[in-house]
Amino acid sequence: MNNPLLQEFDIAPFSKIESTHYLPAIKQLIKDTKAEIDKITSNPKEPNFKNTIVALENTGDRLDRATSIFFNLNSAETNDELQKLAQDISPLLSDFKNDLLLNEQLFGRIKTVFDDRKNKSYNSEESMLLEKQYKSFSRNGANLSEANKKTLRKVDADLSKLSLTFGENILAETNAYELHITNEKDLSGLPDGVIEAAAQTAEEKGKSGWIFTLDYPSYVPFMTYCDKRELRRKLSVVFGARCFNDNKFDNKENVLRIVELRHQRAKLLGYKSHAHFVLEERMAEKPEKVKLFLINLLEKAKPAADLEFKELEKFAKRKDKIDRLEKWDGSYYAEKLKQERFDLDDEKLKPYFELKNVIDGVFTIAKKLYGLQFSEKNDIEKYHKDVKTYEVTDAEGNFLSLFYADFHPRAGKRAGAWMTSYKSQQIINGNNDRPHVSIVCNFTKPTTTKPSLLTFNEVTTLFHEFGHALHGMLANTTYKGLSGTNVYWDFVELPSQIFENWCYEDEALALFAKHYETGETIPMELVKKIKKSANFHEGMQTLRQLSFAMLDMAWHSSNTSIIKDVKAFEKGAFAITKQYPDVPENCMSTSFAHIFQGGYSAGYYSYKWAEVLDADAFAYFKERGIFNKDVANSFKDNILSKGGTEDPMELYKKFRGKEPDPDALLERAGLI
Ligand SMILES: [Zn+2]
Repeated sequence: MNNPLLQEFDIAPFSKIESTHYLPAIKQLIKDTKAEIDKITSNPKEPNFKNTIVALENTGDRLDRATSIFFNLNSAETNDELQKLAQDISPLLSDFKNDLLLNEQLFGRIKTVFDDRKNKSYNSEESMLLEKQYKSFSRNGANLSEANKKTLRKVDADLSKLSLTFGENILAETNAYELHITNEKDLSGLPDGVIEAAAQTAEEKGKSGWIFTLDYPSYVPFMTYCDKRELRRKLSVVFGARCFNDNKFDNKENVLRIVELRHQRAKLLGYKSHAHFVLEERMAEKPEKVKLFLINLLEKAKPAADLEFKELEKFAKRKDKIDRLEKWDGSYYAEKLKQERFDLDDEKLKPYFELKNVIDGVFTIAKKLYGLQFSEKNDIEKYHKDVKTYEVTDAEGNFLSLFYADFHPRAGKRAGAWMTSYKSQQIINGNNDRPHVSIVCNFTKPTTTKPSLLTFNEVTTLFHEFGHALHGMLANTTYKGLSGTNVYWDFVELPSQIFENWCYEDEALALFAKHYETGETIPMELVKKIKKSANFHEGMQTLRQLSFAMLDMAWHSSNTSIIKDVKAFEKGAFAITKQYPDVPENCMSTSFAHIFQGGYSAGYYSYKWAEVLDADAFAYFKERGIFNKDVANSFKDNILSKGGTEDPMELYKKFRGKEPDPDALLERAGLI
């Protein structure tokens, strides 16, 4: 059969791939990978690192390539056919993975090597690989008795059903509500674009007037700009009451059941709590450490947050005689106050951020820091004509990576921005096989009269994703499972977030922030405003993030199966971060999808954790100069090229000479 996914290739052969190729190829490659695994388990020789751990690491290379093409395209250039295929392909892959983790012969061999590790002298990367493989089995119950294994399967099945139901309930409650406005006066304060979108929503539903919904693109601008306080209150209360309405979509029981099962699962596997289980594979290590981290930030951010809140109260009183500032007033008055103070909007900044210049800026900064050179290539296959392709080389001209950049929205691309890869870096048979890295964004498109001009938010997004891309391009590890962005969750945002810092530096902005018509460099006064407005209400924002992280830890770091009242428990957890009066009809936990539907349980803290890392790391650049070669080399050698080959705290200390200091974040944010 002439299936390009089953033939040898280096660069993804986009032009030759048809939708019909995916399913048969992936089926075949799963079969091939199983055969590779059978070869390991049937090896008559005693298990050792090479014939078991390395051998397993090297299985499934071609399967990885084919699935990465499929899933990357299903996000960046999808259609009905691919989406339907995903429903067939995803279960095949998860069955394959489950079978693998239940393979007792394979685990037996890995365990033999793992148990003998003290008698061997493995280097750090080998130790990390061994531990990673062993833990992927043991954390899935491989060491349990048959009876406990059965219990674990049941718990896992129940949990996956519950999180699905949890999410479906949120969706149902979100979709069930609409705020139908028929009086034009009620639209006062809303920007034209928001009004247009609401009119369109109404039209789609066959109604007159304007419809606002609980979806973020509709809800957030409404809460930020709608002048009518009563309408803001109405929408805010409905939003905050999702799945807390004692109807069939209520999530209170689901929350209690999920935390109970998670606790049971952790206990079965020998952990004190779900958070202990999760944090074992995080830089933060333990719930105790996370709690200390959060409390420390809270103590330092609270005074600033209180001042900001008082100031906002005063402002609302002066402006509209508001006596008691409520949740539905927050975004609205904050936006007005920000306008008054900074008078800064996207339209003023955009002319200085033409996409072409910003990309050049990113490349120039990468060159100044890491010696990277980018040359655009027009002979490399791409999945869409708008995708740009570059060859990345180091200062000596050695090939480092292929880089795909896909900037603008189109039908078939999902929203947001992300970095991904089509091929991992690894050293195989002595050959350093270089990666193929990609970033996908949804930036403002060019028009017939104007080039693509980015908002400042889009500029920082580009820097963010490019930071992830550097982690991929500069990867230099032996095993692909530890290469590039394959690091602990609370460490993966360091390379991306640190790179955003250059967007706020005069020295860096001078390189690329030039007016698209006049060529004039962005005025210092605007740069100052950008910096100041970035820190606007940082105290209150910090408190808000901390409140979510603390609620998450409260649910997951002890036995919460004794809790009966979700709202009362939540109120207790929120007590030390509270600013606005409580709304009795609202509950956060029942719609907290991050931790009860998605994968962020016992992980919400990592947003702030990553900010501390990047602020502390960038403070080092600031001390020595933002283009200092020594600091840049150290960041490259100890962080960007190392992937997950060492404990992240060790890597960080090698770079910085000490552990990250939370004060760096508070200083950058102007809180201390
Ligand atoms: Zn990121």
